[in-house]
Amino acid sequence: MADPFFQPVSGMDLPRFAGVPTFMRLPHLTLEHPRAAEVEIGLVGLPWDGGVSNRPGPRHGPRQIRDASSMIRAQHPVSGVRPFESANCADMGDVGPNPVDNPETLRRFQSYFETLKTRRIRPLSAGGDHLCTLPVLRALAAEAPLGLLHFDSHTDLFPPYFGSTVLTHGNPFRAAVEEGLLDPARMIQIGIRGTIYDSADRDFARAHGIRIVPIEELFARGIADVMAEARETVGTRPAYLSYDIDFVDPSVAPGTGTPEWGGPNAFQAIEVVREAAGLDIVGADLVEVSPPFDQTGGTAWLAASLMFEILCVMVAAL
Ligand code: MN
Ligand code: MN
Repeated sequence: MADPFFQPVSGMDLPRFAGVPTFMRLPHLTLEHPRAAEVEIGLVGLPWDGGVSNRPGPRHGPRQIRDASSMIRAQHPVSGVRPFESANCADMGDVGPNPVDNPETLRRFQSYFETLKTRRIRPLSAGGDHLCTLPVLRALAAEAPLGLLHFDSHTDLFPPYFGSTVLTHGNPFRAAVEEGLLDPARMIQIGIRGTIYDSADRDFARAHGIRIVPIEELFARGIADVMAEARETVGTRPAYLSYDIDFVDPSVAPGTGTPEWGGPNAFQAIEVVREAAGLDIVGADLVEVSPPFDQTGGTAWLAASLMFEILCVMVAAL
């Protein structure tokens, strides 16, 4: 039964341009809130871009996505799913980073998501750059490796840059595989394109049996066919969904640090998530929205819409 406490503020009660913005106008509950234990899916902001190696800004993502997400209504247009009535959802606020200390921030994030896991709260996070995903996986996959459904124009499987051992947003999934957090046989990366320094990421994928679907293959075969393969690859056991907004063509989503031309349009960007229905998504994120590169807010509005699509997939698995 839908709990009135966990329903978003309706635009019929307070117009959607009014009020303090939370994700999808949900109640704001930090971990200390007396009803936090009842949350089943927690929407979390990760305002941190310490993993960016070129154009920064995703630390500003969660706030702009929250604002844009006031546009979200209660019901999915196609499936009819009303996610806020299917599961107790809440905006759990932001996990505060230490903006001048990356290792400290990674520890803080990991510790936070360990607490969510202990409380059986499934996270849907808004980044932040893609390195934010690694501490989430360190928490959620500590006991058993997860499958991965990954939309991106980059594999993020590269070795650390600049001859350093310091991790960036170019290598969270390489680190996650090396740490045993992901099962390479249950990983699929979709939409890959753009120039690269070298083939180190492809070599790593081949050596570990990770499936890469380049954008050319996605468009040649079509979304339904590729996503049928994705569901087969990821399987029915617990999996993580990671969505980098640069999967989408920069004509649609320019607000990101490493845009690559020739990507999906907005409908296709949404459609791939709908085709993920049936997977057991135990955690998900939407990352790399960089408001300084799109002050119209259109990228953040697409990100909020994609988070709603992901949420509808997540509630079906509960
Ligand atoms: Mn990425
Ligand atoms: Mn990317």
